Amino acid sequence: MTLATTELILERLLCARRSIPKGANTMLVHVAFLIAVLTTGVAAEAPLRSASVFVEAEEFGPLSQVWRAGARWADDIYSPTSGDAVLANDGGGTDEVAKTVEVPTAGAYNVWVRYLRIGEYKGSFGLRIAQNEQTVFNEKYRTRPKGAGWEPTWEKFPATLQAGPATLTLYIDEPGIRQRIDCLLLTSRLDYGEKTPPDYHDFAPQVFFRYQFHEPAVPTTAEVQSYVRRGPVYYHNLGWTTQTGLGTGGDPIPAGEWSPWCALTKVVDTDKFLATVHLHFRSGGEPVAEAKVDFQVNSVAAEAGAHTLHEDLDGDIVTLLIPGNLARYPDLLELASTNTRRHVENARGLKLPPIKAPRPEGIKLETQICGFGGMYNSKRMLAEEMEVGSLLGANSFADLVGVNRQVAAEQGVRRTFLNQWIPYQALPCPCNPGNPRLIEDFYVKAAEKIRRDDPDALTVAYRNKLYDEPGTGNLDHIAQCANCSSAFREYLRRQELTPQDFGKQDWTEVNVLKRDAATDPPSRRLYYWSVQFRDESVMRVFKLGTEMSEKHLGDGILTNANFTNGGLSDWAGGLIDGPDWFLFGRERAQSLMWSEDWTSMGPEGTGYPVDVLRSAGSPHNLPVGMYLISYNAETLPLRTYSALMHGAKILNFYCYGPWYAFCDGSVSESLPAQKALAAVTREVARAEDLLRDANTPPAQVAVSFFKSHEIWQQDTAIQVERRNTYLALTHENYPVDFLDEALVEKGKLSGYRVFYLVDSDLSRKAAAAIKTWVTGGGTLVTCAGAGLRDEYDEELDTLKDLLSVASLEVTKPKRGYRERYDLPAYQPTDTVTCSAPLEACQVPVMGYREALTPAAATVLATFADGKPAALRNTVGKGSVIRFGFLPALAYAKDAGPSATQVVTGYLDHERRVITAAARLANVARPVECSVPRVEANLLTSPKGAVALLANWTGQPLEKLTVTLQPSQPVKTVESLKQGKLKATRRGKVLEVTLPLATTDMLFLKP
Ligand SMILES: [Zn+2]
Repeated sequence: MTLATTELILERLLCARRSIPKGANTMLVHVAFLIAVLTTGVAAEAPLRSASVFVEAEEFGPLSQVWRAGARWADDIYSPTSGDAVLANDGGGTDEVAKTVEVPTAGAYNVWVRYLRIGEYKGSFGLRIAQNEQTVFNEKYRTRPKGAGWEPTWEKFPATLQAGPATLTLYIDEPGIRQRIDCLLLTSRLDYGEKTPPDYHDFAPQVFFRYQFHEPAVPTTAEVQSYVRRGPVYYHNLGWTTQTGLGTGGDPIPAGEWSPWCALTKVVDTDKFLATVHLHFRSGGEPVAEAKVDFQVNSVAAEAGAHTLHEDLDGDIVTLLIPGNLARYPDLLELASTNTRRHVENARGLKLPPIKAPRPEGIKLETQICGFGGMYNSKRMLAEEMEVGSLLGANSFADLVGVNRQVAAEQGVRRTFLNQWIPYQALPCPCNPGNPRLIEDFYVKAAEKIRRDDPDALTVAYRNKLYDEPGTGNLDHIAQCANCSSAFREYLRRQELTPQDFGKQDWTEVNVLKRDAATDPPSRRLYYWSVQFRDESVMRVFKLGTEMSEKHLGDGILTNANFTNGGLSDWAGGLIDGPDWFLFGRERAQSLMWSEDWTSMGPEGTGYPVDVLRSAGSPHNLPVGMYLISYNAETLPLRTYSALMHGAKILNFYCYGPWYAFCDGSVSESLPAQKALAAVTREVARAEDLLRDANTPPAQVAVSFFKSHEIWQQDTAIQVERRNTYLALTHENYPVDFLDEALVEKGKLSGYRVFYLVDSDLSRKAAAAIKTWVTGGGTLVTCAGAGLRDEYDEELDTLKDLLSVASLEVTKPKRGYRERYDLPAYQPTDTVTCSAPLEACQVPVMGYREALTPAAATVLATFADGKPAALRNTVGKGSVIRFGFLPALAYAKDAGPSATQVVTGYLDHERRVITAAARLANVARPVECSVPRVEANLLTSPKGAVALLANWTGQPLEKLTVTLQPSQPVKTVESLKQGKLKATRRGKVLEVTLPLATTDMLFLKP
């Protein structure tokens, strides 16, 4: 809510939709009182309103850099706030902001302020009230911050106020990191807020509705439910409409008669946000087949000034879209069926070209058409939304069973993905002996139900989602659970470990340990295996889910959990905080690897999770699917190409919507996103017969992804180093694989020329395998700290001599390193001067740092004090480059990543320091672009090869030369966007030149 309550009341009285100028709120007290009297009986809280003054903090002024109106995530709003905004201050300043209000009556008041707690950070603000040029109140709020929460809270102080104008002034009392003030409430109702905290909805703009059901001419009741379209989302069930009101248990409402006015104020938001209010009509207990209904919606429970809507719809659910502030946003009020009709008219209006064969559906292009059965039951609406999805090029929708499948087929969509998740009850106690039965029963029943509802549905399904963003197990649970701790001991026995390995006499003394209890070698060993078992036990639940899904839904239906990227890259620890991707792949706990395209890098990081997934699934050659967040029209084509070129075969464009049915459904409202999506799906369709069976080229460069490091280090420095090492390599078109310790132990290094080892901790077996591989001719690139500790975090000297380190000691500042969140504020601690064969340049030092000993090695770089910062050492037939700092952290820092924009600040010289080893080792590039940061890869299929190009430079390129090294003979090269290209040949190498705006594909035809 952004208007003061008094202004809104006036607005209601006038029934005017024009806005009232600010400052027009004097002399409105009597008006407010009048309204309160008039509406007594329908608005129980009216006396409270008339005894109170409610003010949005963001209406204070003057706003400036010091005090500003803050909104949404950027200003820490993770919970609903009144008016969907706060008054934001970043912790200091001497400016004050003020607002004058009218106090209704003289007497004792409570002065409440709602603000965000902002954890334990220091800092407080004051509120001063002046009347008749006298300060009558001056109190400090948020002087005792407590706990880690950031949610809104109310705090109050007593005051004695006179009737009449009062000026409220907010100021910073003790500077801190920030203040976020939501709203203020002055009330003479001293009991209010005592038992339960105040609710700003009690003072929010009000919304009422009523209906008149016309046809069929039968008495009706309707169950009224609401959904606030925002994250976090809120669902409410208000009960059934009756002749005596909402949820009152009265009689049905006769046809042709108005229902009583029903209040919605508590379940809608308080500003522009829409609430979806859906009415499920019943007559005689049965759903009505169709509904001809009139609605009136108003900000008072009265006909005058009401908005009237007419619905004529198949199905028993009618849905209204209602803005939180009806007076301010009357145009947003509409029927969902009208909104849907507009979607299809807009999409038809785009005059999209038909999708050219080849089809069908080699590459799955999925989206979700949400809400059918919950927010609407109209086949007409479903068909319209599905028509839009189909026009945008989607060839698969979620959960097509029965009517859904029929309607989708009429719109040309004939494939589906299911959401038959593993029963969540199996996860808290992963070793519960009842789990196999529980999971099997679930899939037996799920399959029976689907077959009963639609015998053909399972034949058009190709994947089943097992879970969304699963976490990992809980060591506290395992320690206390007889089933889980016994399974832990069984697991240790299978690893051929004994109680003596953990300093115990007997298995009964062995149980899982947490990190803080790992204080000596035996306990460190036990902690390491505790984490491994914890992850193994969760993986087993998913493996069981895959087996049961395959057995009962069909073994041709792939299974996948959606791994959150938080677990991969963002928050506390990486794999340590989520499922172990490599373990899932190795054990085939799912048959499809899946994640999302957001990381704490920018959109240019899309390829990273795809290549990690592909590598993790490599033992079983598992396919890869990705969610691509689809509201950003500028980066969507780039991200789509990036996902495809690294091997993704299923793309889920997340998410169509419609927006009123699902808060992440933003595509339905964005024509730019729709145009971008429609264009890119048509491009993929043209290449489908090549892409569907295409393989990524074998990589000659691998990067370590070692869980031992994450088990012990639990910082983000190496995660950031790893993904920006990857980024630097792909910016120069080197295909990259990731190897975990198990793959290295199995000898997988033998296929690579260069290995980037970034992790500090690794298994002794993996270290030995690395040493053998280097001696045999490999090029090992390592950064500060890498390779110096074993899986139990004990000192490891297997690689010490190779790495030219002076000692096993490394400086590791404890702090955050994430690209977008932490690096911008991080000042480099030193500067390294690099020289050939790295690259003659200077690079900032951040994060880990160590002392190096040249011995027989060549110095490639020095710190500011002249000591060596990078060395190159020859070992047998191979060589080792050791950085005594983190070069990829520097690459990320200086680029300044952004969440939604294409980041263009990457520095060529910093990248060349990272990629020097690949150049020195003559690593092959199947595609090489003349301009760095044009991401490219060459996929090979039985029908020919295709090179995908994604231009991340932020500039259209007039002339790009692409050098191709196909593994098969090529007759012609054709660009998707430029047509046939003239190719120059040098032996097997082809060279073409073309302009490149954003993306393109080059077809290499035999
Ligand atoms: Zn258990």
